Amino acid sequence: MIVTRFAPSPTGRLHLGHAYSALFAWRKARDAGGKFLLRIEDIDRGRCRDEFVAGIEEDLRWLGIDWDGDVRRQSEHFADYRAALDRLDAIGVLYPCFCTRADIARAASAPHGADPVYPGTCRHLSAEARRQRIETGAAYALRLDVERAFERTGPLDWIDEGLGTVEADPLSLGDVVLARKDTPASYHLAVTVDDAIQGVTLVTRASDLFAATHIHRLLQALFDLPVPHWHHHKLLTDDTGKRFAKRDRAVTLQEMREAGTTAAEVRTLAGF
Ligand code: GLU
Repeated sequence: MIVTRFAPSPTGRLHLGHAYSALFAWRKARDAGGKFLLRIEDIDRGRCRDEFVAGIEEDLRWLGIDWDGDVRRQSEHFADYRAALDRLDAIGVLYPCFCTRADIARAASAPHGADPVYPGTCRHLSAEARRQRIETGAAYALRLDVERAFERTGPLDWIDEGLGTVEADPLSLGDVVLARKDTPASYHLAVTVDDAIQGVTLVTRASDLFAATHIHRLLQALFDLPVPHWHHHKLLTDDTGKRFAKRDRAVTLQEMREAGTTAAEVRTLAGF
């Protein structure tokens, strides 16, 4: 049976781009008689707010979207992410990284505006240097040694229902963070663990997250998890061709509703 999910972060109210993503996943499941799940990606306790969780559920109901089973809230499952980190640690593919954002920006050559690829500075620290820094109480993130991990798994690919077979290229992202200094997990880790725990068979999300899939595929192989299909869908843009984004205060579904837009009109605007 096909199982899809919508996995928003409650850092603001939903906008039209979210409506598209949610409708896309929901329709994929419902058209096939499958299951549609809702997951709240709230590991970032500083930025996520409970009122937005309630807002997300309200907006989805208003759009006519229903979900199966309980809503999974990532903040309630740090033990699952910890267990996953322990497994990676046991096979020697994790290392502590003490770099600050400024260190990374200085050391990395990043195309303007793009996230810098981590240059691997702390990968080269000796076990002794690591121990000393940890003992002095220095804060650290845990990074995946992608090269070592990829050597272990060998070549990987995945099926993208929009693109066909895609060869995984996890090295292009550098050594990603799997546990942050302030949060004992990261997006990549939590998504991979949760999609498997929730039995998701088709991961749908916007194409701006396409690159992340290279890492998720690698993590799945390391954990020996079932491999879902993916479908990276188009990114909805506003009248000026810009993607909707919370930080630009994109008009929210709540605001649209209050201004008199109906749910049917939103579905049409999103193309459903
Ligand atoms: N939580 C992510 C976001 O809001 C989506 C995660 C995913 O679909 O993999 O952008």
